[in-house]
Amino acid sequence: MKGLVVENLVASVEDVEILKGLDLEVRAGELHAVMGPNGSGKSTLCHVLTGKDDYTVSGHASVHGHDVLSLDVDERARLGLMQSFQYPVEVPGVSLRMFLEEAAAAGGREARPVDELADQFGMQPFLDRAVNDDLSGGEKKKSEIYQMAVLQPSVVLLDEIDSGLDIDAVRQVAAAVNELRNEDTAIVMITHYNRILEYVTPDRVHIMMNGRIVESGGPELADQLEQGGYEQVRKRLGLADEPTSEDRPTPVSELFTDTPFDV
Ligand code: ADP
Ligand code: MG
Repeated sequence: MKGLVVENLVASVEDVEILKGLDLEVRAGELHAVMGPNGSGKSTLCHVLTGKDDYTVSGHASVHGHDVLSLDVDERARLGLMQSFQYPVEVPGVSLRMFLEEAAAAGGREARPVDELADQFGMQPFLDRAVNDDLSGGEKKKSEIYQMAVLQPSVVLLDEIDSGLDIDAVRQVAAAVNELRNEDTAIVMITHYNRILEYVTPDRVHIMMNGRIVESGGPELADQLEQGGYEQVRKRLGLADEPTSEDRPTPVSELFTDTPFDV
């Protein structure tokens, strides 16, 4: 199958199991949102899939039909598995254009035309400036999504790309995510709040709790979550975890923040 398939994925750190048999299937052309309380293992899922080596892993994961769990980080990247970074790096002295040309050559993948896509993503003004230097939080995220689009990913993992952004930036980043959608790419968008989902309509929404996907549905599932929080999901599914105040999605009012992205 083209896309991402994860079956019975288990990951532990020093005998503590974080992912506890996770199943997820995202076909190329689809965008799935994964929502879950703090500590449910969302970032761990990204790390384990991209090959960060802190974890003892079992189960199965494939990208466009290729098993990935036994591959090293570079091999996974060459299959087109890409993750956004929570804190994008700045590369002083290297223009975005040079950076992308190098990255495309190093990745051994056919890249899409830098200029053509820059028009589409509104990135022309940034092409001849240093990578991420003096960009706002929202611009960095947009730039990162544009960079991924150039490199033609097969599977994209977006981990909380909306965190710390004000509402205009959320809209811009959402527009970039929508530009990234195409029939060859499977996108997993991890998000804590359903704010970005007002601008990006997912094909499926999954709720992750305690290392597993516990419920899946259409976009309406995110609205239900906004209404009732994770506590209601636990009640509905008869899950035993103690609910905490941290588990409720952040109220929309708290998203209107002036906090700079990378503080
Ligand atoms: P989320 O992204 O859903 O908030 P994480 O995947 O970051 O959750 O973390 C899930 C749990 O696993 C947390 O309790 C976290 O402390 C723990 N964890 C994740 N990575 C490590 C690690 N490398 N070492 C120890 N504990 C970890
Ligand atoms: Mg996380």
